[in-house]
Amino acid sequence: YAKGLGRANYVVFDPTMHARAVRLLQLENDLKRALREQELNLFFQPIVCLADQRIIGFEALVRWMHPRLGMVSPLEFIPIAEETGLIFEIDQWMLKEACFRIQQWRRFTEEPLSISVNFSAKQFDQPDLVSQVRQVLLETRISPQQLMIEITESVLFSRDQAAIDTLHQLKNMGVSLCIDDFGTGYASLQYLQQLPVDTLKIDRSFIKRMDVDNLDLVRSIIELAHDLGLSVTAEGVETPVQRRFLLDMGCQEAQGHLFSKPVDGQMAVALLQEKMTNGLKDW
Ligand code: C2E
Ligand code: MG
Ligand code: MG
Ligand code: MG
Repeated sequence: YAKGLGRANYVVFDPTMHARAVRLLQLENDLKRALREQELNLFFQPIVCLADQRIIGFEALVRWMHPRLGMVSPLEFIPIAEETGLIFEIDQWMLKEACFRIQQWRRFTEEPLSISVNFSAKQFDQPDLVSQVRQVLLETRISPQQLMIEITESVLFSRDQAAIDTLHQLKNMGVSLCIDDFGTGYASLQYLQQLPVDTLKIDRSFIKRMDVDNLDLVRSIIELAHDLGLSVTAEGVETPVQRRFLLDMGCQEAQGHLFSKPVDGQMAVALLQEKMTNGLKDW
């Protein structure tokens, strides 16, 4: 029977592709239930001040514990959520939970902590995004200054003026805006300067290659960003050498496995308490 079929048909029956398609369908199906059944959870990764390694905030990262498949990476299910429209619910839920937690942790620090939340570019298709954010800030009683919204360069392109207006409105409310994974898209620093952006997060691929050949590139990103009045956070810092380089180049904030992997809420509190009782520790 297969004899008469062309090559294209053969590809369709490739077993690994089949397995992938089945998994995709399964995840698509299960994601809705995941929200309802509370299979989604927040993890937190500390953002530290590079000079004294103090925790200045956390980035909230979504986790999905699937009852049969185990931990599913957001890299796998966020694109599915974007396609099915579930991303609105997921990001909204993350925003609310993250703000709520950071409010509860107020008692563990002298200075208010910041909380960074990832927003899919899709979010900016919603006309009432600004009022949703305002509502969450009111409900959770955190100040807008504590909230940082992370967007990727793709929000700035292939979206219309409405998305840019939304950014301005968020900014006017006092919320900070951060360009995540900076360097992987097409935004130039000069273009970003015209937008209400506060912080650049240098993508971890640049940090990873830094001890080999990227030093000058990273240095010029940091210097140019500072010249334009933007602050810089380095993402994916894994080694003391990388930390040293970044410090010397004037980068002020970082996150990465060198300081802490993303942890659950309980562990995040433990990290904060450890800081309170032990003061500064050499990581
Ligand atoms: P991102 O926002 O750039 O988050 C940073 C990712 O890098 C996280 O992966 C984090 O675990 C990982 N990471 C941090 N430090 C290191 C390090 O030192 N080394 C290495 N190798 N990796 C490090 P994660 O948690 O798997 O998240 C992946 C992506 O999924 C995020 O990238 C973000 O784009 C997306 N994402 C996560 N949570 C959400 C969410 O609530 N909403 C939306 N829309 N997207 C989310
Ligand atoms: Mg992020
Ligand atoms: Mg990032
Ligand atoms: Mg990244």
